[in-house]
Amino acid sequence: MRRIIVLLGPPGVGKGTAAVALVNSFSFGWLSSGELLRSVKQSGSELGSTIAGFIDNGRLVPDQLIIDLVEKEILRSPDDCYLLLDGFPRTLPQAASLEEMLGKHGDQVGLVIELTADLEEIERRILSRKAVEGRADDTLSTLRHRLEVYQRQTAPLVDFYEARKKLHRVSGMGSPAEVVGRISQAIQNALKIEPISQKKEAC
Ligand code: AMP
Repeated sequence: MRRIIVLLGPPGVGKGTAAVALVNSFSFGWLSSGELLRSVKQSGSELGSTIAGFIDNGRLVPDQLIIDLVEKEILRSPDDCYLLLDGFPRTLPQAASLEEMLGKHGDQVGLVIELTADLEEIERRILSRKAVEGRADDTLSTLRHRLEVYQRQTAPLVDFYEARKKLHRVSGMGSPAEVVGRISQAIQNALKIEPISQKKEAC
């Protein structure tokens, strides 16, 4: 059975940074929808340029497009691992589709971590990421649009998962080590699993 952990939170809150640390310490599989889309964008295909038109302007790609891409990756992942989803789902139709798809395979979302941080901190993190990674969508004006999109389209997922008793809210303020420590604790409490010393190759 695949067990899914969803990392939810606005752009710049630190989902990617936390994901890398969690994947290493718990040996989770990891699927970042943003990374998946950026790799298709860079492939130079027609689909890649369609995707670039959305990402570079801070808009969400159409639901069906990302649902198809992500679902294919989930089904390719080993079914005896925890899989950390970073950036998906981002809309109610995506969440409903994920639930339906997992249900068909006897899998389910086990836990949703909502990471939160102050707006000033999010802006500071995005600008320092821009300096390091040079992402086209990490400008202040695109960030403000992405935050609006988050409030309108993604924030309703908090109620969706709260109603299913899956949601754990974690503060994303402080150093990466502090944030990862809080998330690890939430995972250990909710799922009764421990960090492991040896990486499971399959995951
Ligand atoms: P991220 O790396 O998660 O910040 O995502 C970068 C961009 O990829 C987003 O601003 C969207 O344009 C696009 N994207 C990532 N995940 C999704 C998703 N689940 N649904 C729609 N668009 C997405």
